[in-house]
Amino acid sequence: MFRRVSLAFLLLLCLATPSWQSASAQSAAPRSDAWLDPYRDASARLVGEALASPHAWERLAELGDTFGHRLSGSRALEDAIDWAVEQMKKDGLENVHKEPVKVPHWVRGRESLQIVAPRTHDLVMLGLGNSVGTPDEGVAGELLIVRSFRELDAAGPRIKGKIVLFNVPFTNYGETVQFRATGPSRAAALGAVAALVRAVGPPGLRTPHTGALNYAEGVPKIPAAAITSEDSDRLQRMSDRGTTLRLLLKMEAKFLPDADSFNVVGEIRGRERPDEVVVVGGHFDSWDVGTGSTDDGGGCVVTWEALRLMKKLNLRPRRTVRVVLWTNEENGLRGGNAYRDRYRDQLMNHVLMLESDGGVFRPTGFGFSGSDAARAKVRDIATLLRGIQADRIGASGGGADIGPSVQAGNIPSMSLDVDGNYFLIHHTPADTIDKIDPMDMARASAAIAVMAYVVADMPERLK
Ligand SMILES: [Zn+2]
Repeated sequence: MFRRVSLAFLLLLCLATPSWQSASAQSAAPRSDAWLDPYRDASARLVGEALASPHAWERLAELGDTFGHRLSGSRALEDAIDWAVEQMKKDGLENVHKEPVKVPHWVRGRESLQIVAPRTHDLVMLGLGNSVGTPDEGVAGELLIVRSFRELDAAGPRIKGKIVLFNVPFTNYGETVQFRATGPSRAAALGAVAALVRAVGPPGLRTPHTGALNYAEGVPKIPAAAITSEDSDRLQRMSDRGTTLRLLLKMEAKFLPDADSFNVVGEIRGRERPDEVVVVGGHFDSWDVGTGSTDDGGGCVVTWEALRLMKKLNLRPRRTVRVVLWTNEENGLRGGNAYRDRYRDQLMNHVLMLESDGGVFRPTGFGFSGSDAARAKVRDIATLLRGIQADRIGASGGGADIGPSVQAGNIPSMSLDVDGNYFLIHHTPADTIDKIDPMDMARASAAIAVMAYVVADMPERLK
């Protein structure tokens, strides 16, 4: 049940500053956050409007239900991009358009993994993104399990001709993802014929997690797949009992020629300094499993909502607020790179870039990277979000898609911080809308709307 009316009303009550309170505070000593006073009303209205309906969640549900996943090069992604353009125009956003980007076109095809000796068992698997395929008859080999790169290197000559499994339990993404990204080439360099990776995510109902690998130059490209933590544990137990296991991996994965795709852009043009821009956004492509609802349809929708809410409430900030739905984050980052190249001459006019790509669970605030002076301003603004408990400002913020521009233009950057079990469903068939709470999406939209609006409107530019 979406308890929108009562919550919205409560929020209006606690966010609006009663006149008696500001009067008494001013009579004591000037408050350092007095500059925020003109924004209290607008912030309360943005939050109230966001929480008054499950619009964000319904939009995300429509996206996933209608188009499904959105892998780069797929018809679904391009149809979804056209839909987003149409919807943004219906919302009344300005300067809505597509910006062309050539994207890699990797396709998974059919795939399977079996234990073939001493007995036959099917395993649950997902090929890693950008992997090469196998010959039609598959790649067979004896299984060799390692639990670290040290164990891999120690196995040395024993690796030759084997299928290597990196059985490394998930700790955090940054630590564990290296086995997916670089493990296949490190195994190939020692003569492995295929690589398997324990899913990069906490154990969850025998769910494999896909994701991109990076082949190293000068090393044979071997096919690589993720298997579930449950199957990894099983293989480990069997191997520990001294059982020699033979596996057969079949993958049709391959690259087709690069495809045409687009970044989607929509704006609320600034009323005084339209050339100065606050960018918010997420990546619109996804892996080819699930519906990419948390990664990153949700991030796209909540940042887009920020502009829709401003438009609906007739709030036109001093500077331009631009939403960008980047293409091809997952297996190429071509959208983020293309944005940097296209706007290279205007990056100095980018006041702030904010990306939401960590899921749309309960928002706690924002990560921020920028100067101390800018951090102090952002901290002040975040106090407007106390009513929805999204007022924390973390030590650093950024995102894959804004990264190239942020680096090239030395632009303050921000990410939406959330409290949720993102990596349980990340890159899996379970990344679907039902894991997302409509109220969390409404709160996330509200938080981004308030932050983007105030940064875009405040008299002095964020520096
Ligand atoms: Zn993502």
